[in-house]
Amino acid sequence: MLVSAKDMLNKAKAGKYAVGQFNINNLEWTKAILLTAQELNSPVILGVSEGAGKYMAGYKTVVGMVNGMLEELKITVPVALHLDHGSYDGCLKCIEAGFSSIMFDGSHYPIDENVAKTKELVKLAADHGMSLEAEVGSIGGEEDGVIGKGECADPNECKAIADLGVTMLAAGIGNIHGKYPENWEGLSFETLDAVQQLTGEMPLVLHGGTGIPEDMIKKAISLGVAKINVNTECQLAFAAATRTYVEEGKDLQGKGFDPRKLLAPGFEAIKATVKEKMELFGSVNKA
Ligand SMILES: [Zn+2]
Repeated sequence: MLVSAKDMLNKAKAGKYAVGQFNINNLEWTKAILLTAQELNSPVILGVSEGAGKYMAGYKTVVGMVNGMLEELKITVPVALHLDHGSYDGCLKCIEAGFSSIMFDGSHYPIDENVAKTKELVKLAADHGMSLEAEVGSIGGEEDGVIGKGECADPNECKAIADLGVTMLAAGIGNIHGKYPENWEGLSFETLDAVQQLTGEMPLVLHGGTGIPEDMIKKAISLGVAKINVNTECQLAFAAATRTYVEEGKDLQGKGFDPRKLLAPGFEAIKATVKEKMELFGSVNKA
């Protein structure tokens, strides 16, 4: 059964490790992530962007697929199904569809409007036993057409949002979605530290986990990050493995064109990426 991300993240924050949010795009992605979490006895968060939800035919299809897998793959580790960078309407749809967690990304609104909308959703999420992630300070790069500049959040605005009763908070600390540019200045640990000082026990979320050096990830966890989002890295691993399969002409040998064979190397590559991240984040055997 799907669970809210609240308990797993509070435990992670207290235990100084982080739970990975791995975004899903289809059946292969979902199965690879769930099986790896089960094998490593790790809690996990499945992230679904609004674009990916649409791609998979809608949120109800996603909920049906994930719930079916939890039962039929005998997944017993804690799993949250989470809307990533949701709009207000997207949040309402996911609450209705049976997600167990939502993110409301109101970072592009003036802070007063972000506060007002987040407040309404805090109540709705609580009524449904769901966790809610809020965002302050936009995160750089592009995600589903939303382009952020990668600014650092104002710690006082973070406190204002945290005090509304959200479960976890994503604060911009110079992180970027997608691949990091050569001249990237790195994470702002000063901002992260200031945010944690003001928000206390609240689990903090690091978006754009792809390509952040390992020592920065570990330092971020030590400063209160308890959830790390990984999306692009699984996509790159999947694409590279699929490319190799085709370039080696394996789709032309025997029944190599069978989608179950064609997509198998990409599936294994996602599993390997997820395993590597869970080990780095310290969530192995924390289920
Ligand atoms: Zn993000």
